[in-house]
Amino acid sequence: MKFGGTSVGSPERIRSVAGLITKDDGDIVVLSAMSGTTNQLLEIADYMNKGNAVGAAETLERLRGKYAGVVKELFPDNDEWTAKANSDIKESIDAITSEISSYNGLQSEKNIVARGELMSTSLMLNYLLSCGVNAKMLPSLDYMTVNASGEPDSKEISAKLSSLLSEIGAAKVYITQGFICRDPEGNITNLQRGGSDYSASLVGAATGADEIQIWTDIDGMHNNDPRFVENTSPVRELHFEEAAELAYFGAKILHPTCILPAKLSNIPVRLLNTMEPLAEGTMIHNASPDHKIKAVAAKDNITAIKIKSSRMLLAYGFLSRVFEVFERYKTSIDMIVTSEVGVSVTIDNEQYLPQILAELKTLGTITVDRDMAIICVVGNLEWKNKGFEAAVVNALKDIPVRMISYGGSNYNISLLVRKEDKVKALSLLSEYLFNK
Ligand code: ADP
Ligand code: ASP
Ligand code: MG
Repeated sequence: MKFGGTSVGSPERIRSVAGLITKDDGDIVVLSAMSGTTNQLLEIADYMNKGNAVGAAETLERLRGKYAGVVKELFPDNDEWTAKANSDIKESIDAITSEISSYNGLQSEKNIVARGELMSTSLMLNYLLSCGVNAKMLPSLDYMTVNASGEPDSKEISAKLSSLLSEIGAAKVYITQGFICRDPEGNITNLQRGGSDYSASLVGAATGADEIQIWTDIDGMHNNDPRFVENTSPVRELHFEEAAELAYFGAKILHPTCILPAKLSNIPVRLLNTMEPLAEGTMIHNASPDHKIKAVAAKDNITAIKIKSSRMLLAYGFLSRVFEVFERYKTSIDMIVTSEVGVSVTIDNEQYLPQILAELKTLGTITVDRDMAIICVVGNLEWKNKGFEAAVVNALKDIPVRMISYGGSNYNISLLVRKEDKVKALSLLSEYLFNK
């Protein structure tokens, strides 16, 4: 069971999560930092990166005040648990203070940001213990590891986790940190922003869980992005592939890589709403009985690159030379469309764009379009059905479309539009596909 930032964002929320996680025996509970905390910790590091120790100290002081208030409200009796909770929070605040005083860039930043999950889990553990629940801490820094490329090492995670679980023994509930882990040198690192979802599915896969539950602030995966479009509604069932496409292409409710460990172990993922625990939510598993369009999502900050080669006509090897350039610069391609004379691809990471463009110029004439957005339409869209692509194109008939990709998988149609047209495109798709 994974609970995100808003789900543990206040003493009241922590109490209600405590009720949800003690219904069964032996569940492993993955927690994010309280909402706002990760941003605040990154702000402290940002002040230090800019050489402003006063700004960092003032931000830390605000954070300290916030957590003092949380402890006071969560442990009103002022007993041994209040003291324990205060001393655990103090340990984190002291660790941040010492990191500020010997600040050394990226590693210090990672050590500071890890404190968010360490604080939220200590609050939950102490609260459960104060209620007499046999809860135990499963420190993620003792089992969650990534390799030199930042990829989780599932064999190692599984081995470490099972020996840790047998070492600490039976419990009503185990509490662990999302997001944070160790690199091969043993230094603290993390699974990127929003990575607690990934932690949860790695833990679920490593322990052979019956189900991985992602509890958040909305009743499951909606058919469109509720941050940009009105009248969205929950999708009750998704195939692993459909959910992975939506997560990768912008549905913030799931971290992009979170579906993979669950899919590989064939463990269903259920999205549930902490604010409305009885709502049905969304079931993500290895089935997609309905042949229909289920949801749309969008991803910003996309750059399209067109490489036009006069020699591509009847030539072989051109595409491989183009792809080699992206491979050399470890830049992944999201969308691709080809014609006899050229190829267009999209990337979302511009770090090596100048080098990539310089090399591509040896292969053909280049055009670059920046500030684009990928609109991803997802469902069980096997090509033998009729009308899916027509419906999508028809919905977007008044928006300039730079690329269309269909048939790469059974599960998606992707379109590239200007970023400024993104919200309009999403709204039109809702109107034409779901709310007619
Ligand atoms: P948590 O802190 O629990 O991880 P997030 O903020 O990361 O929560 O994810 C939940 C949010 O994702 C929702 O509040 C919603 O605004 C956003 N979201 C974006 N796209 C979707 C979608 N298709 N369905 C549901 N929520 C979405
Ligand atoms: N606390 C981290 C973040 O805000 C990880 C997470 O919430 O998933 O990005
Ligand atoms: Mg999240």
